[in-house]
Amino acid sequence: MSIKRIALIAHDNKKKELVEWTKIHLASMQKWEIYATGTTGRLLADELGLTVHRLHSGPLGGDQQIGALIAEGMIDILIFFWDPLEPLPHDPDIKALLRLAVVWNIPVACNRATADILLSSEKLFSYSRTVPDFTTYQNRKL
Ligand code: PGA
Repeated sequence: MSIKRIALIAHDNKKKELVEWTKIHLASMQKWEIYATGTTGRLLADELGLTVHRLHSGPLGGDQQIGALIAEGMIDILIFFWDPLEPLPHDPDIKALLRLAVVWNIPVACNRATADILLSSEKLFSYSRTVPDFTTYQNRKL
């Protein structure tokens, strides 16, 4: 069973839900490497006792740091409970993060139902994602 590197992020109105969700999956989470934006990470550490690689708070660059980790191949799964009902100052960062998750073909859950299905999948450990090969793109003639 390989160690999963999971990124957890929740906007303020969704933090309670993410903590509840993570608590349900605590046994798995304790075995995995967790990355989180600053405030989300603090809550997960304080309330659930998890060891978390805490990055900056989302609006201060944390979303972009998670995006960079995805681009470096350091994140296997992204759980991102973003808030669909409130405009946020770092909206471009949120979009950029979700874009990189698609670019690098990592599983992403943006709500609890998808996160539940993802974590309960029997393919969670056997599935080997295709890492896109961007050689042609990188070598394109301009
Ligand atoms: P936070 O950042 O965990 O520091 O609140 C999350 C976000 O707003 O993207």
